[in-house]
Amino acid sequence: MSADLSDLIKAGLRDVPDFPRPGVVFKDITGLLADAASLRAVVEGIARRYAPGTVDTVLGLEARGFILGAPVALELGAGFVPVRKAGKLPRETYQATYDLEYGSATVEIHTDAVQPGSRVLIVDDVLATGGTGEAAVRLVRQAGGTVVGFSVLIELGFLEGRRRLTDVEPHALAVL
Ligand code: AMP
Repeated sequence: MSADLSDLIKAGLRDVPDFPRPGVVFKDITGLLADAASLRAVVEGIARRYAPGTVDTVLGLEARGFILGAPVALELGAGFVPVRKAGKLPRETYQATYDLEYGSATVEIHTDAVQPGSRVLIVDDVLATGGTGEAAVRLVRQAGGTVVGFSVLIELGFLEGRRRLTDVEPHALAVL
């Protein structure tokens, strides 16, 4: 982890207490995205961990994973695939459901989005409890792809989300 990049992220994000519900401290990265130098630094910070030619597909998790994932895919010469919340994709999908504190959530990809044997990098803004990430890993495997990387801007280490990610070693540009 580059100390400079970690410091840049920590300085640029804003904590929003009790959003979207009481007890949650929301990590708002919109200020980082709005700053040209920071945006470039975080996209390059993710992309540089992966050697050219080692990633076929970047999977971005709705919604901030789309913003980061697409430019990372361009940097790596890879394609981009969105993982969406249930009901948003228009064609046949694979689905993965995971538990939330209250209830459950489902995410989807198109069945033809990840080719069998594809090397997939999953990208999101925040790794919290790991539920979303673990569901995304299942989707890749369901499609016959291989997860070769999992990158986030921020890992909330105290939530121990990485423990839910079996056989995947997530990388965070900043750990809080
Ligand atoms: P989780 O499934 O608990 O790892 O949560 C990860 C997803 O929820 C990511 O897509 C994040 O964008 C979002 N998320 C969870 N916790 C936070 C937080 N404290 N601040 C901002 N986004 C969060």
